[in-house]
Amino acid sequence: MKVYNTLSRRVEKFVPIDQKEVKLYCCGPTVYDFAHIGNLRTFIFYDIVRRTLTGDGFKVKQVINLTDVDDKTIKNSRSGGMTLKEFTEKYTEYFFKDIDKVNILPADIYPKATENIDGMGTMILGLMERGYAYPADDGIYYSVSKFKNYGKLSGAKVGSGESRIKNDEYDKENVADFALWKKWTESDGEVYWNNGLPKGRPGWHIECSAMSLRYLGETIDIHSGAVDLIFPHHENEIAQSEAYNEKKFVKYWLHSEHLLVDGKKMAKSLHNFYTLRDLEERGFDPMSFRLMVIDANYRAKLDFTLDALKKYEKTLEDIDISLKAFEALPKTGSVDVRVAETLRSELPAFKEAMNEDFDTHSALTHFFKVMDLINEKAREEKINQRDYEAISDVVQNMNGFLGIIKDYAIPENLHEIAEERKALRVDKKWDLADKKRNVIKEAGFKIIDLLNSDYVIVKDRRYGR
Ligand code: AMP
Ligand code: ZN
Repeated sequence: MKVYNTLSRRVEKFVPIDQKEVKLYCCGPTVYDFAHIGNLRTFIFYDIVRRTLTGDGFKVKQVINLTDVDDKTIKNSRSGGMTLKEFTEKYTEYFFKDIDKVNILPADIYPKATENIDGMGTMILGLMERGYAYPADDGIYYSVSKFKNYGKLSGAKVGSGESRIKNDEYDKENVADFALWKKWTESDGEVYWNNGLPKGRPGWHIECSAMSLRYLGETIDIHSGAVDLIFPHHENEIAQSEAYNEKKFVKYWLHSEHLLVDGKKMAKSLHNFYTLRDLEERGFDPMSFRLMVIDANYRAKLDFTLDALKKYEKTLEDIDISLKAFEALPKTGSVDVRVAETLRSELPAFKEAMNEDFDTHSALTHFFKVMDLINEKAREEKINQRDYEAISDVVQNMNGFLGIIKDYAIPENLHEIAEERKALRVDKKWDLADKKRNVIKEAGFKIIDLLNSDYVIVKDRRYGR
């Protein structure tokens, strides 16, 4: 596998530190609101990284943290009149629902920042002892000029003047000593800890350094996030972790690009965002968004439009119908040599693309070659059993990497109604048959009639056919 490493600014061969287990840390959501689909683009990328490693045979330990205390969570919980815990638990639940809707496999551990305050305290005290951190009136700060490699990830330059910044988020023009610990102020309300440090709460950056150390160890294989995390978040994580552990922190830094709307980053602050709920209310299957993300290169910006999403919704329906019709084919006839030939070239080409810095777009073209084969067999109205199994295995294998096909349940009674419709059609009772079709449509599904007088039932997609 080859990956683009932000640290070296080059595509490098991936060699795990320990063959037995790849350690993968992904900066997770700040649970202060619903995730928008820009956030989800990033989470889908994490899922692709993890699926590719697993598909290549690696055992993976994936950590996705939950930031449940920071400037934004405190501010929004207070304005919502809820305790920080109640508030963040609500959005954590929505996060888990959302990631399931786009077929993201669960990580091994989802640590919460609030359950790791002790580890952060220990790290901050250690950094003070080693001279990297110092107390100020309003908290404890990291002295960026003390860390000689500051800027190695983002290219940020430490200026000569001494300045401090208390906010969690700021830009490269404002390189400054940043807050590891923030002393309690009125606006923090009930949120504070006393663990050998002044009454207060952690800064955002120390959260990930402490959780990565606790759950994955001093040096890990991969750390990832969207490009906006390169500075200051990841630069600061390196400064904290490498100064504290006196070891290299991360071997490969992977960053995915933003989802845009009209050329601008989708962001809460710009009010130009959609959540998955917004898309569902418009009649879309969240999986069409996953397909859209996967069709793009993760290192390229992706402009989101509803029209483009409609196209993916239709593609998703095509795949769904093709696969269901394929399963329904009579398993007869002789072996077709072209099946083995096609699979022999498409599967390795698919894997090669995935291993070429997660080239999901090219991988998809190989997946669609297999879909073409499936459609050809549907036109022939039969398939040899061995060919069927070989194709099914390859589709499953590819889907293990991409996760674009997600099973859904069809209510049992719809199968009965569809059978009744079939019988009515045999008797040429077209009107009654159409009524049955409508019952199925009202339940959110539709019947697709096949060539061989059989049919399949699929989800009714408003933006499909
Ligand atoms: P947050 O919940 O704000 O901490 O963000 C979660 C993840 O989503 C982080 O890795 C962000 O960098 C990322 N992110 C935020 N906005 C976008 C966007 N428009 N496109 C892609 N990723 C984003
Ligand atoms: Zn982080």
